Amino acid sequence: MKNVLSCIQPTGDLHIGNYFGAVQNWVNLQDTYKCTYGVVDYHSMTMPYDPALLRENTWKMVFYLLSCGIKRENLFIQGLVPEHVELCWILSCVTSYGELQRMTQFKEKTQQLQEKDKDAFVSAGLFAYPVLQAADILIYRADYVPVGKDQEQHLELSRNIAQRFNHQFGKEYFIHPEPLFTETPKILSPADPNKKMSKSLGEKHYINLFSEEDRIRKQIKSAVTDTGEAVEGEMSPGVKNLFEIIRACGNMAAYDSLMADYTSGALRYSALKEATADALVALIHPFRERLNELNANKTAIQAEIRESSAVIRQRAQETLREVREIVGLC
Ligand code: ADP
Repeated sequence: MKNVLSCIQPTGDLHIGNYFGAVQNWVNLQDTYKCTYGVVDYHSMTMPYDPALLRENTWKMVFYLLSCGIKRENLFIQGLVPEHVELCWILSCVTSYGELQRMTQFKEKTQQLQEKDKDAFVSAGLFAYPVLQAADILIYRADYVPVGKDQEQHLELSRNIAQRFNHQFGKEYFIHPEPLFTETPKILSPADPNKKMSKSLGEKHYINLFSEEDRIRKQIKSAVTDTGEAVEGEMSPGVKNLFEIIRACGNMAAYDSLMADYTSGALRYSALKEATADALVALIHPFRERLNELNANKTAIQAEIRESSAVIRQRAQETLREVREIVGLC
């Protein structure tokens, strides 16, 4: 079985964009590949953060992923595998300063920080972030990394780092990870369907996957359908987004019937919104039930994830033993 590796930052909530755009795919890949999924807390230290909240959010993300169907044995917490950081240091010595300067995400995040405060502290950790990502991937000899377009540049860098390491030490040691592109929907903000659903835009711009039914219904009810810039004969982004959500939930009967109404000009937005809310509530219900069950056994589940992290760590340790030998450490 080929190895698949993917990671997610513990950023608090998991929204339906994260689910349809990433997590759902991760769950499905488990049937075909040997999957390793990390909750990457070291990465969350690159921007200003609160230590207690980081720890809380790390466990929260673990529980969310388990509720969505990620298998316990495939899941680890990056902070419990410190070898990632050691490999990051070693790889940063075969990465050029110029390469990291060209990373668009570094530029974007720096800009984000400086927009809030022009003298904002920009950490060296944020600059080195893509090297830690390369370490995450290479340490488990991942064959495939499911990536979205936004992460393509970082994966390309991981491949370059692997190649430079092999060249510099005269050994075909690291395999070159390939991107695994899967058609996943891009979900838009219900409050501003010209933008991607994202936590960084604020609470009204994302639908939490674990929200109460009432809140989901309210958010969908108030979703923007017409932005005032409608192009004749074209579906508005807000309406398209609601159709996309129904389809992503797998409710094709509702999708087809509402689409027929749209084509004939008989579509009522209230019916579209009700069907969208129904589809989401039905999808989310079992996740919420599982989350409640897991939370009722919190300590035992945490112990299991510490154990799965320890087992996964053994693979990282094996890589580090070989790498240390290759690079000349005692
Ligand atoms: P956020 O900060 O909004 O939680 P991240 O950038 O941390 O999102 O993304 C985590 C994962 O979720 C990535 O794989 C990303 O491609 C996916 N993702 C995020 N937002 C969306 C969206 N609106 N639609 C589809 N996928 C998304």
